Amino acid sequence: LSKKVEMNNLEKGHYINYQKMSENLGIVRKRLNRPLTFAEKILYSHLDDPHNQDIERGASYLKLRPDRVACQDATAQMAILQFMSAGIPSVQTPTTVHCDHLIEAQVGGAKDLARANEINKEVYNFLSTSCAKYNIGFWRPGSGIIHQIVLENYAFPGALLIGTDSHTPNAGGLGMAAIGVGGADAVDVMAGLPWELKAPKVIGVRLTGELSGWTAPKDIILKVAGELTVKGGTGAIVEYHGPGTQNLSCTGMATICNMGAEIGATTSLFPFNDRMYDYLKATKRTAIGDFAREYAAELHEDEGAEYDQLLEINLSTLEPHINGPFTPDLATPISKWKEAVKTNKWPDELKVGLIGSCTNSSYEDMTRAASIAEDAMAHGIKAKSLFTVTPGSEQIRATIERDGQLKTFEEFGGMVLANACGPCIGQWDRRDVKKGEPNSIISSYNRNFTGRNDANPATHSFVTSPDLVVAMTIAGTLNFNPLEDELTDANGKKFKLKEPSGQGLPANGYDPGQDTYQAPPEDRSTVSVAVSPSSDRLQILQPFDAWDGKDATDLPILIKAQGKTTTDHISMAGPWLKYRGHLDNISNNMLIGAINAENGEANKIKNNLTGEYDAVPAVARDYKKNGIKWVVVGDWNYGEGSSREHAALEPRHLGGLAIITRSFARIHETNLKKQGMLPLTFIDPADYDKIGPNDTVDLKCTELAVGQPMTLVVKPADGSKSFDIKLAHTFNEGQIEWFKNGSALNTMAKNAK
Ligand code: SF4
Repeated sequence: LSKKVEMNNLEKGHYINYQKMSENLGIVRKRLNRPLTFAEKILYSHLDDPHNQDIERGASYLKLRPDRVACQDATAQMAILQFMSAGIPSVQTPTTVHCDHLIEAQVGGAKDLARANEINKEVYNFLSTSCAKYNIGFWRPGSGIIHQIVLENYAFPGALLIGTDSHTPNAGGLGMAAIGVGGADAVDVMAGLPWELKAPKVIGVRLTGELSGWTAPKDIILKVAGELTVKGGTGAIVEYHGPGTQNLSCTGMATICNMGAEIGATTSLFPFNDRMYDYLKATKRTAIGDFAREYAAELHEDEGAEYDQLLEINLSTLEPHINGPFTPDLATPISKWKEAVKTNKWPDELKVGLIGSCTNSSYEDMTRAASIAEDAMAHGIKAKSLFTVTPGSEQIRATIERDGQLKTFEEFGGMVLANACGPCIGQWDRRDVKKGEPNSIISSYNRNFTGRNDANPATHSFVTSPDLVVAMTIAGTLNFNPLEDELTDANGKKFKLKEPSGQGLPANGYDPGQDTYQAPPEDRSTVSVAVSPSSDRLQILQPFDAWDGKDATDLPILIKAQGKTTTDHISMAGPWLKYRGHLDNISNNMLIGAINAENGEANKIKNNLTGEYDAVPAVARDYKKNGIKWVVVGDWNYGEGSSREHAALEPRHLGGLAIITRSFARIHETNLKKQGMLPLTFIDPADYDKIGPNDTVDLKCTELAVGQPMTLVVKPADGSKSFDIKLAHTFNEGQIEWFKNGSALNTMAKNAK
């Protein structure tokens, strides 16, 4: 009989199945007959069908069975609304929801949290009641940032997690393959369907030597980002290995994996080691650590495993780095830093230093940062720049409060913000500079794209370790290298900051702080999900209509989009984020960024019924009101960008039937199919040019069959003779059912009956 070890301390009855994982791996090993990387071991041990699955790195599509799902509050809304419409009483895969993205930093933790509770009341009520109803663990606002909570409670070595947030890979610090996905993928796994992923390539990063002095784990990923650039990890898992991994703290490894998102990697991970065991023990999961030790042979790469690309970093000679501004891959080692500030004319006064976030708020980070602040205060000086601290979780906040670091930060001049994303995601009511004023800030966060933190395009945002953030904050200028430069103490005497020192784990254990977790109730039948019919932020989804079984005739072309049409052009973010849970309201941003091939303008298209030019959503609504379906014609790689499912839901909601393009970004293509739309491509890409923006078309929907082309009859607006165009598609049998039933969710609901 195999051993029974619960996956976590919060849910009952979900056991870690290392035995099954190693059986699956045995099957795959026989077939592949070669050494495997650790990333491959995790993925292949979670295959839905290890006997028959095609496995070729960078080519096959793997069907996987993740162990769990995690959603943050901004993305959870539409994911849960969709899950609800599948008519299934409980999630089929353990799932949690985390309230962290909607809390704005203004005056400090407690007050900001109270304000967020008021502003986001209906969203939080909806999430809390729907989680209770569908058996989902709910982490209330104030509990902390999704990735920190996952690391503290749910991550374990060898597991596979999907999360609706790009920094989900953070859990790689605990030997987990944790992958960021869109809401539609999360819904599939919540509903018990396998999840599809293109078999990633594997980039190996071999670490040797040992960190010391001012160099921190963050510097490893800052260096890797500089080497690989923001696109270098696309389609690949970054797998760290080698003797240098043994001395990194578990939370330090999490920091490295977290920021792997900045190079576009599918995920990043570290092999199981003693430091992970120590962390499991410190977070009250010794049984998991012991169990992982029994299966340790499967929790690292095989001898001789081959990587698609290999990098080597010697930690003993690695310098501290600072990356930015405006992009996380512009890496500058500290020895070249002051020169870079000067050459590039970056504003040298440092306005704000920010530590914490999901990337860097471990006990180790906080104790090291506090040691530098204490050193400064021992010399009678404090932070010169504004300084903020974002604890990643209530547990971290309570522990540093108990152990005194929080007090140190406050005495040093810092403001402690809520346990939430805050300034990292632009939830920052910044008052110290005016919009448009060039200025510099430095943080221990992961992302620093233009405007991300404070919506000011002139803000130069740099990312580095918390250690350097604190040092720079003391100096108040970017013209400072704490390894070499001196500061002036309160008596006018020169001194050099001591190297930071900290503790990996709290000597007295973690203090859990306030209980912010809501477990699903035993009896869920009486829970009703709170959605007000008058809400402008939330709307229950109505199932889309099934296909009427007929060919479609005389369809207008809503827009012939020209050039790049990304998911941002199709469904913009920014101010629209607020409506992520309200399909009808967010549909008012549909395709407003796409360029009309007719006039080269965005959001100005001809309404075929009136002959007038109007906004894209307005014209679509007019067609819908008149019972007219429509199509979109698109260019190359239509729908690239993110996996945002709103980009597929909106055209479906406003009455679209087909999106016909030269080619699709694959995730968007699948998302369209899931919503019951027809993503089709020109067999001859030159046919794109034959269609006029104001032509009408007939689409022979009855021809839809696996591997068969479909016919589009084009009726030119100038009255000339109509002609046929052949279209291709990638529907398989199951996906054709989605189209026939109106959506993948309708199909699930039908099958659930
Ligand atoms: Fe994303 Fe920043 Fe929040 Fe982390 S802290 S989850 S990077 S928004």
